[in-house]
Amino acid sequence: MTTSDGTVQGRTQIHGTAARNRAFTVVLLGDGFTAAQQTAFNTACTGFVTALTTTAPYDRIGRAINIWRVNVTSTDAGADDPAAAGGTGATARTYFDSTFGGNGIRRLLLCNSSTVLQTAAAQVPEFTVALVVVNSTVYGGSGGSVGTYSLADGATEIALHELGHSAYGLADEYAYYAGGNETGHDTHPAGEPVEPNVTLKTDRSSLKWGWAVAPATALPTMSTPNCATVDARPSTVPAGTAGCFEGAHYYHCRAFRPEHNCKMRELGNPFCQVCRQVIQARTKVTKNICALTPNRDAVYRYDGSGTSWTRIGGPAGQLYAGGWGLVATNPSSG
Ligand SMILES: [Zn+2]
Repeated sequence: MTTSDGTVQGRTQIHGTAARNRAFTVVLLGDGFTAAQQTAFNTACTGFVTALTTTAPYDRIGRAINIWRVNVTSTDAGADDPAAAGGTGATARTYFDSTFGGNGIRRLLLCNSSTVLQTAAAQVPEFTVALVVVNSTVYGGSGGSVGTYSLADGATEIALHELGHSAYGLADEYAYYAGGNETGHDTHPAGEPVEPNVTLKTDRSSLKWGWAVAPATALPTMSTPNCATVDARPSTVPAGTAGCFEGAHYYHCRAFRPEHNCKMRELGNPFCQVCRQVIQARTKVTKNICALTPNRDAVYRYDGSGTSWTRIGGPAGQLYAGGWGLVATNPSSG
C-alpha cells in the first residue's frame, strides 16, 4: 500500500548510448514484484526495449533514447483488483500501490504517481518519462503524469500506447470510453481538444495534420453513419491514408482521427503518420559531432561530455552531414 511495503534496489541502464545530459530518457519501475521476482521484472524490461526499438518511428530514433530500469521490491505480488470494477477483489501490498479499476473501469490501472516520480528522480535525475511495470496478467494500463502497464498478453503494446500519452501527449483515438456503445458518448462536446492527433475541425486549410493529407483525399474521409454506435466498418481508403476519420477521443461522432487505425486507437497496429511525426519531433533527436581519424580508418561520435568518443564506423573517405543525417564516402572509390 505504501513505501513501507518494499524497497528500491537500484537502477540499471538497459538501452542507449546517448549522452545523459541530452538523451530522451525512459525509466521503467517495477511494482508488485517480490524480491524473488526481480528476474521477471528484468525480463519484462528487456521485452519493452525490443518492442520499442522495432516499432516505427523508434526504430529510426532509438539511438537518441536511453532506457533504465529501477528495481523495486514489493511485499506482495500483483496489484489491487477491486470487485466493484469487475475485478477479483484481490489486494496486494506494493511499493507504488498499483490498482486496477480506476474510474470504475477495470483496465484503468493507476498507482501512486508522486511516489513514482520521486523514485525516478532520485534514481535517474535526467529522466523524461516514467513507466510502471505492474506484475499482473490482468489487462490494464494508463497514461498520465506517469504511465502504467500490466503483463497481460501484448504487454509491450500497452506500454507503447501509454508512452504515447505520458511522453508525447497523444490522445486516445478510439471512439468509446468504457467500451463499445455506451450512452453519453454519441457526440463529442464542443471545444477543440489540445492533443495533436484528434480534432473537431476538418477544414483542409486549418487542419492540424493538413501536411499529411493528399489534395485528392476527401474531408471528412469517413463519417459515422449512426452516432448512437461506434463505426466498426473497415476503411474505405487504403491503409495509411491520412484524412479525417470520424470517431475519436471517446466519442462516436464529431471528433476525428488522422488515419483509420493507429496504435493510439487499437493495439497491434502501427502508429499513424501523425503520431509518428509527433513522437519523432518531441523525442528531440540530439545533434552529434562526428570526426574522421587522420588515416581515415574510423569514424567517431563525440559522447557529449568529457573526452569520450565512440567508434560508429569507418573506414571512410569523406564525411558529409545534413538534416538527413551523416553520410560517408567509400575511401577507395569515393
Ligand atoms: Zn495516431
